[in-house]
Amino acid sequence: MAAIDGLPPLREVIATHELVAKKSLGQNFLLDLNLTAKIARCAGDLSGCDVLEVGPGPGGLTRGLLAEGARKVLAVEKDSRCLPALAEIAAHYPDRLEVLQGDALAVDVTAHLRTPYKIAANLPYNVGTELLVRWLTPPTWPPAWDSLTLMFQKEVAQRITAKVGDNHYGRLAILAQWRTDAKIVMHLPPEAFQPAPKVHSAVVHLKALPAPRFEADAKVLERVVAAGFNQRRKMLRASLKGVHPRIEAMLEEAGIAPTERAERVSLEKFCTLARLLARG
Ligand code: SAM
Repeated sequence: MAAIDGLPPLREVIATHELVAKKSLGQNFLLDLNLTAKIARCAGDLSGCDVLEVGPGPGGLTRGLLAEGARKVLAVEKDSRCLPALAEIAAHYPDRLEVLQGDALAVDVTAHLRTPYKIAANLPYNVGTELLVRWLTPPTWPPAWDSLTLMFQKEVAQRITAKVGDNHYGRLAILAQWRTDAKIVMHLPPEAFQPAPKVHSAVVHLKALPAPRFEADAKVLERVVAAGFNQRRKMLRASLKGVHPRIEAMLEEAGIAPTERAERVSLEKFCTLARLLARG
């Protein structure tokens, strides 16, 4: 397969550096550089932008991001076996690729990137949701990033983009859609990866809104949504009992029937309820 950048094909890179995929690190590599360039394009115009990539592995998406014109890519990779392969890419794109070895959940990237930066990643399945929730719940809004372009297991992508009443609607949909425009931009079959996972995957693009879609205190909203969906089959008057002593009256004031279940309550109504709860 023709490379997009004159570097060796990924199959060769993996063989040369003996990058046998480790399940414990969620390693399912993308080998088609045309596909990784296409994913990079889903992140929008990269020229003049810094991009944070989590889990570059042998560098397929990294190469896509650089070939698509990213000013700089900061790649955070836990597996030290990938570092020599990434060093070859860094040498091919002088001053445009910085690699940090470490756990993306622990590394502080702020000093390494110009804001607002973009985040693009084929995420390791075991830390993907936790990273997304962290990116969606920074102390202040707008965040340091401008958009997230992330590969997830298809079901997780559906949970992020689900609308009220959908089976997948829940905490992740509310967190994501409160402050971003979130949509699935690409579907990938298992065979796109090496080794092929058991599940289908999808790329989700989340564009940060300048301000939340509806006014609400982030902490209160997160608490009420977590409690509501923790027991999603229960009526809200029961699942939110611990949130406020007069929860039934509050629900009614927000225009929500106390007998309603969380999965049938819109984001706007959750925000109304959070505002009433914050008032006390
Ligand atoms: N980006 C590559 C691609 O698309 O082919 C690899 C994607 S693979 C699904 C996930 C990558 O994340 C692996 O390279 C793995 O080593 C790395 N990884 C796993 N856990 C990590 C963590 N906590 N912090 C940073 N990287 C991690």
